[in-house]
Amino acid sequence: MKSKPPCAIRRDDSQTCIRESLRLSDLGFAQNKAKTMNEKYDAIIVGGGHNGLTAAGYLGKAGFKTIVLERLPVVGGAVVTEEIHPGYRISAVSYVVSLLRPEVIKDLELKKHGFEMLKMDGTLAICDDDYLFLTGDEAHDRREIGRFSSLDYDAMQQFDAMVQSIGTVIRNQMLREPPKLAAGLSDLTALARMGWDIKKLTPDLRHRLFQMLFSSAHDFIQRWFESPMIKNMYAAACFSGNFASLRQPGSAIPFFHSAIGEIEGEKGAWRLVKGGMGGLTQAMAGFARSKGVQIRTNSAVAEILIESGRAVGVRLENGVILNGRCVLANTDPKRTFLSLMDPDQLDPDFARDIRQIRMGHSSLRLNLALKGLPDIKFFPSGSEGAWHRSDITMHPDINAMEANYFAAAAGHLPDEPRLEITIPSTLDDSLTPPGRHVMSILAKYYPYQLADGVSWDDIKEDVADRIIAYMARAMPNLPDLVIGRQMLSPLDLETIYGLTESDIFHGRHDMDQLFSLRPHPKAAQYRTPVQDLYLCGSGAHPGGGVSGAPGYNAARRVIADLKRC
Ligand SMILES: Cc1cc2nc3c(=O)[nH]c(=O)nc-3n(C[C@H](O)[C@H](O)[C@H](O)COP(=O)(O)OP(=O)(O)OC[C@H]3O[C@@H](n4cnc5c(N)ncnc54)[C@H](O)[C@@H]3O)c2cc1C
Repeated sequence: MKSKPPCAIRRDDSQTCIRESLRLSDLGFAQNKAKTMNEKYDAIIVGGGHNGLTAAGYLGKAGFKTIVLERLPVVGGAVVTEEIHPGYRISAVSYVVSLLRPEVIKDLELKKHGFEMLKMDGTLAICDDDYLFLTGDEAHDRREIGRFSSLDYDAMQQFDAMVQSIGTVIRNQMLREPPKLAAGLSDLTALARMGWDIKKLTPDLRHRLFQMLFSSAHDFIQRWFESPMIKNMYAAACFSGNFASLRQPGSAIPFFHSAIGEIEGEKGAWRLVKGGMGGLTQAMAGFARSKGVQIRTNSAVAEILIESGRAVGVRLENGVILNGRCVLANTDPKRTFLSLMDPDQLDPDFARDIRQIRMGHSSLRLNLALKGLPDIKFFPSGSEGAWHRSDITMHPDINAMEANYFAAAAGHLPDEPRLEITIPSTLDDSLTPPGRHVMSILAKYYPYQLADGVSWDDIKEDVADRIIAYMARAMPNLPDLVIGRQMLSPLDLETIYGLTESDIFHGRHDMDQLFSLRPHPKAAQYRTPVQDLYLCGSGAHPGGGVSGAPGYNAARRVIADLKRC
């Protein structure tokens, strides 16, 4: 294994310290003096991720006495900005917004509280030894795609328009409570509304909708495109939100995920956030505080307290007990039901189903501090271009990606991963000293569970070196520019950010884990089998991604219930 650069040692050591202290507290080594606070809250929110903060904002706005308890020193969960090297800041985990509901931006006055989005210049796909750079300018993009196919520019326009049209059906469900399987009148009305949305589609679009839900990404891509380059690019885009064989039925669902977003009226758009993703969660926290919400960081909840089948409060790891009329869990369903309470208090069938939720996305994050901009070998060297200000993906061809998936499912690492790369400092000078840069890399096909008992802690820096070496095939001077780095293995995503089994969405987006089944038919309407305990995180409908939708929907349900009693 190569030795780490000194700056990496500094940063990684401090992360290890955070992780170790979290592990000790997870094991209950924190002081355990029970002390009950006299104050009673209307709502106690466990976790200050962006969904917990969204729910808090709405509850505070409705006048309910609300407290957010976050175990980390900062709020935001997977939506945070961190300093990875002195003077170099970056979105550490999630890095782009698209799904964030416009209603949440408006209702929580996020722009007034400092939230600002930045548009990228284009997309650059690098596959094997070739590339495709798209800017959205028709003449330019036709020329670019024409290098590979005379048909695929039009096919891409038709495909994207089709996904947008049917994506509207999904988008319309985001801020609606999914109907109960034991359907009552209101559930039938919800189903009818969805049926009406589907009815508005043309018969061909209805056909495509059901194909997209039930067929495989591979078949879908073969059906639409002719050139290997475009097919590879779409396969890579689809795998971004997935951990499934591209030939598996249902593996095309992530196409929706990349299309249902809507930024300032532009459907399917993706944006960076000024100051990093923490700019969003700090704005959410600012709004919540302005409505009287208390936010306590370094406040890990050890237990959700249940009396006679009702959630009555929480016990913190330091022993403090807080009482509330209800508890909202921003934690994922496994953590909520299996760690934060004694699962024996639950119906055994329900607990068994929660244990069975499929998790894991094979993602890791590598963030780099750079002393300059890397050259990208397909473009003139030594100067900045629109390609630097773009969303860059680097991946092998579809067959190698498929082989990567099966290897990762067996616990092995890829030689040629799928990478999604941004250089946010090219659009945001608040992140680095002048002339310096930060680069964000999301790498896929890195399983949480490694084969042969190998530990992520033993190999993660070596893996980071190998990712940088792979990137150097397209960016030859990159290794010489790195002056600091933050490597977040799948294990780090779990131990530092609390993402159980490193699942980026709090449970995979598979057909049997979505909508009225997310995370379970008995907890899909934000209420749970434990009375007065609600789910408000990504493990609930409509799922993961930076949308604020689970927090919005949960708050609406809680507000209605609190007003009733
Ligand atoms: C590597 C990666 C990249 C991603 N990239 C993107 C992207 O670019 N765009 C996008 O839209 N989505 C992205 N996602 C997905 C998205 O970030 C998440 O789905 C979303 O942020 C989850 O938000 P949440 O509020 O539901 O949960 P979380 O962000 O997980 O928040 C839960 C909070 O609960 C806290 N917590 C846990 N246990 C306790 C406890 N016992 N007591 C108190 N607090 C506790 C945690 O510390 C955390 O703050 C990415 C995710 C990952 C992991």
